[in-house]
Amino acid sequence: SKMGGRNRYQFYIASIDQQLRQRRQMETDLDNALANRELYLLYQPQIELGSNKVVGVEVLLRWQRRSGDLVSPETFIPLAEQTGAIVKIGEWVLEQTCEQLRDWLDIGWRDFRIAVNLSAVQLHHEGLESAIKRIMIAHRIPPGALELEITETSLMQDVETARKKLLALRKLGVAIAIDDFGTGHSSLAYLKRLPLDKIKIDRSFIQDMQTSNDDATIVRTIIQLSHSLQLKVLAEGVETRETEQLLVRLGCDEGQGYLYSKPVTAEALMDKYGRFGD
Ligand code: C2E
Ligand code: CA
Ligand code: CA
Ligand code: CA
Repeated sequence: SKMGGRNRYQFYIASIDQQLRQRRQMETDLDNALANRELYLLYQPQIELGSNKVVGVEVLLRWQRRSGDLVSPETFIPLAEQTGAIVKIGEWVLEQTCEQLRDWLDIGWRDFRIAVNLSAVQLHHEGLESAIKRIMIAHRIPPGALELEITETSLMQDVETARKKLLALRKLGVAIAIDDFGTGHSSLAYLKRLPLDKIKIDRSFIQDMQTSNDDATIVRTIIQLSHSLQLKVLAEGVETRETEQLLVRLGCDEGQGYLYSKPVTAEALMDKYGRFGD
């Protein structure tokens, strides 16, 4: 009926308005999250397949609001990218990470790297290089100890600019990994043009490898291609021994996933792997 239609329309307007208000509120809260100490970092180990040694950790950002609610990074990172807040937040992540890395180096955890996610917005921000340089000097970070994970899609937006940025970062001693590889359908020719150290195969391919021949073939191909380009390969989202065994057979270098550990606090990581610097 006419009335029903009108009510639906008003309901629709009200809910859009409510969504906009919630979104603006979240933007404001996110702007204040740093100052309010609502952000913190978790760490997830990266394992060398075969030797089972921890060779790295990935840093994963968390936002717990005062209410106690955890907001997923899948929600707040895109928001922070849109508002530009990611630049300040990302710099804080790098600073915290390098401070933690310095502590771990000091207790004798050598020969491992710490990987930080870098958004496309940060990569294209002109202050990035000088911020990283300053932070690395302040915490005396040795070359190769800090790795930046950059998604395939953000690198492919503008390959030539990305190439220049990556070269400058590498000059500072930073290692570069392509994140979520396989989801961006990038031309393989571009891979060769970028100064890279590692490919991280997206979790979606790893998780269906057991049941999908196509995915197993894709994983095998990515591993072969990476090795032919002298790149290390890490499989994301390793959850079972079976998957691990298949990856070992395919010659994959490293694995990361719930099979080894969920992302945990620095303290929990030290409790679990306290002796891996020996
Ligand atoms: P990502 O970089 O691909 O990170 C891996 C995600 O997979 C993490 O989700 C991790 O908790 C999850 N994961 C790890 N192992 C497994 C597994 O075996 N199974 C499953 N199902 N999941 C697994 P998380 O922590 O929720 O982060 C989501 C995304 O948010 C990240 O995806 C990354 O894109 C972004 N992110 C997180 N921290 C940062 C940050 O500091 N800066 C930026 N720019 N982005 C970040
Ligand atoms: Ca990542
Ligand atoms: Ca990933
Ligand atoms: Ca991802």
